[in-house]
Amino acid sequence: MLSTLIYRSHICENVPFATLDDLASSANARNEVYDVTGILLFNGTHFFQLLEGPEESVNAIYSRICDDPRHHNLVELLRDYAPARRFGNVGMELFNLTEHDGDEVLQAVLDKGTSKYQLTYNDRALQFLRTFVEATEREHYFELPPAESWRFVEDDSPQRNGDASLLQGVPCQFAFQPILDPLSQSIVALEALIRSPDGNTPDRFFAGLSQEEIPVADLHAKKLAFAQAKRLGIGERTLAINLSPLSLVAVPGAVDFLLHEIHAQGLVPEQIVVEVSEREVIARQGAFAAAIKQLKAAGMRLAIDDFGAGSAGLLLLTQVQPDRIKINRHIISDVHKSGPKQAIVRAILQCCASLEIQVIANGVEKVEEWMWLESAGIAQFQGFLFARPAINAIPAVNWPELADTPV
Ligand code: C2E
Ligand code: MN
Repeated sequence: MLSTLIYRSHICENVPFATLDDLASSANARNEVYDVTGILLFNGTHFFQLLEGPEESVNAIYSRICDDPRHHNLVELLRDYAPARRFGNVGMELFNLTEHDGDEVLQAVLDKGTSKYQLTYNDRALQFLRTFVEATEREHYFELPPAESWRFVEDDSPQRNGDASLLQGVPCQFAFQPILDPLSQSIVALEALIRSPDGNTPDRFFAGLSQEEIPVADLHAKKLAFAQAKRLGIGERTLAINLSPLSLVAVPGAVDFLLHEIHAQGLVPEQIVVEVSEREVIARQGAFAAAIKQLKAAGMRLAIDDFGAGSAGLLLLTQVQPDRIKINRHIISDVHKSGPKQAIVRAILQCCASLEIQVIANGVEKVEEWMWLESAGIAQFQGFLFARPAINAIPAVNWPELADTPV
């Protein structure tokens, strides 16, 4: 099947412009073998390339391109299918935009078109081309330094362990993972994540219960989360707990139970954030709204977990106004390489800025993901890159520091 792939990238500093024509002609020889055609634009800093051909060939060429050391910060903008090639004749012509006027280039590029249809701007691929030539999206082309610019230094304070005596005869345990602001080296909150008695995942814990037992078990487990957090010396820090909306809705007096246990540990409701997942909220709108009123009236805050993962999307923000949202891990993963993910994160940020909702990026594993998200304006992160959850303990954090430049 004929497929189209568009990406943009940033030229590496050590590549002389004079070598670009050679680059294009050697790439062309390879493209011919693979039956890949397209167009390559260069604006003095960035490349923009449209590749078209059989899907496997396009993928093979693109993975070679990704490994090419002459450019970096590659962002895939479009992957699509088309009935005909747009640039079937030209092999892979290089257009250097620094040598021509924008409108001229656009016309010249379109003149190269071979689509059996008149090439028009109704075509998404061509719209991308136009946007690149006109540089209207350029402010979003973040130039990220190499990942090696940062080294990660473990916090001076070692992991703080909890109180083992609290674990006698309890049905579950909790792991704690920090949510942090890496650049100011501060911990924003600790999230309590439920574990089975043998330390297994939340899914394994809940799998051992019947559907009827889950809401009460989930709610009652929070008693241990508060107690362990207190023993860990959480002090005035924010503690985030996860709760199924069903627990709030189906268990009578659920909010009162939470308040009682919070006070019993000498904690205050203002330091508690209740995280509920987007998926479950939407299923029980009406009853959930009432429980949220009660939580808020008592001083607790609300976070929407896994934002962007369910079917609710932005509509949810018209119905529930959370204090925080946590962007789903699958949107965060490889965000530095994906145009669609970047567009979604930017939209979420814009929306949350207008609504004064704090945004947390969840599941950050790579330095590049973190750097892209910082550039986009996110300041709060949770992920293995900084700290993994630790059972009955507050883990030490790996803080990023700028590595010394090599002499
Ligand atoms: P969540 O609330 O989104 O919690 C974050 C999950 O992402 C945790 O998995 C954590 O270990 C994992 N995580 C954090 N950073 C990374 C990363 O960089 N990479 C990857 N791959 N994973 C990362 P965990 O502990 O298995 O929890 C899974 C989910 O179970 C939680 O997702 C939450 O929705 C639910 N859960 C946890 N505790 C409770 C609870 O007490 N009650 C209820 N109802 N659900 C809970
Ligand atoms: Mn959570």
